[in-house]
Amino acid sequence: MNLINNDDLKFLKQLIRVESTAAHSENLKVVLEMVLDYFHQHGVSAPKEEIHEKSEKYLLLLSNNQDLKQDIILLGHLDVVEGEGGFEPQLEGDWLYGRGAGDMKGPALALLKIFILALKEKLDLKITLVLTTDEELGGENGTKYLLDDLAYQTKVVVVPNNGKNINTICVKEKGFLHYRLRASGKAAHGARPWKGENSILKLMDFYYQLAKFYPEPKDDNQWKKSINLGYIKGGTALNSVPEQAEIGVDIRFTEKEEQADLIDQVKSLSGDYEVEAELLSSGPVLEIPQDNVYLLSLAEIIEEYSKASVDFISSSMASDARFFMAKKMSALCFRPETKHLHAADESIRIASLEDYAFIVYQFLKNFPNI
Ligand SMILES: [Zn+2]
Repeated sequence: MNLINNDDLKFLKQLIRVESTAAHSENLKVVLEMVLDYFHQHGVSAPKEEIHEKSEKYLLLLSNNQDLKQDIILLGHLDVVEGEGGFEPQLEGDWLYGRGAGDMKGPALALLKIFILALKEKLDLKITLVLTTDEELGGENGTKYLLDDLAYQTKVVVVPNNGKNINTICVKEKGFLHYRLRASGKAAHGARPWKGENSILKLMDFYYQLAKFYPEPKDDNQWKKSINLGYIKGGTALNSVPEQAEIGVDIRFTEKEEQADLIDQVKSLSGDYEVEAELLSSGPVLEIPQDNVYLLSLAEIIEEYSKASVDFISSSMASDARFFMAKKMSALCFRPETKHLHAADESIRIASLEDYAFIVYQFLKNFPNI
């Protein structure tokens, strides 16, 4: 069975060519319409075909039933991160290059093909395909909207996120705290800094103090909390003391820390340094138990198909699966083999994409009946 054919690759290239980034919100709808169009080209239609909009972010929902309670949701996203280049796809050997090839236009297309096949074969399962366009921004107007506003529920969600290849399933994600921190100072001429109060330096002092509590992990294998100073804004000229400044900080933590303790620490430290801290978003550490029925079933299918064992791994990255896991729904995070995600030379291995599609389809056909 070949789930990904030449027409699919041609279509995938068309998808990659559309700059579907947050800065081009009109393109977010365009890619979803392209997918819906491509879906219809297969001579099928679904009982539910909807495009939703929330805050200029769009979501495509295709369902083989009218209910809110699903057996399985196939979840992908078609937005990509901003960046220079990478929007002209190229096939080199077995690898397709292009921004979004792996994260996750390629895998999203695989999910569409699985959904089409499930419709054609009339699988006796409640299946919904959801493609969002705000995953790279945090998923608030996509996956969170699906669960909180549209009130969808599912026994299990399949998300082609995290993991290294089809033989690794991500079972644990770090929690995170995203902060915007602002400081105010007093402007003065750069020749007389003692007359002013430097807002950038205030933030720097605060940050270095905070970062002391987050010694940097040496590599992927160190399961430890971490901190990143993502951006810094402030100042207008080299010869003036900046009055206002802002930084963005990304904290990731493990099950060894209490989220509330970390928040308290930022609160007290920001008070000491006269910094205004705003928690933009947060998420807990999430874990799927290793005896989860869906996880075991998927692992068995992968092992049988690939003739290789499955590794259960932890990831520093949070995915949209967290919204499901936070509501106690099972999530299966694994994906095809990809390289250089979020870079202009991002790529996906086509054979691996085919394997992925085949495995997920087998999972559907052998869906654990509980
Ligand atoms: Zn991404």
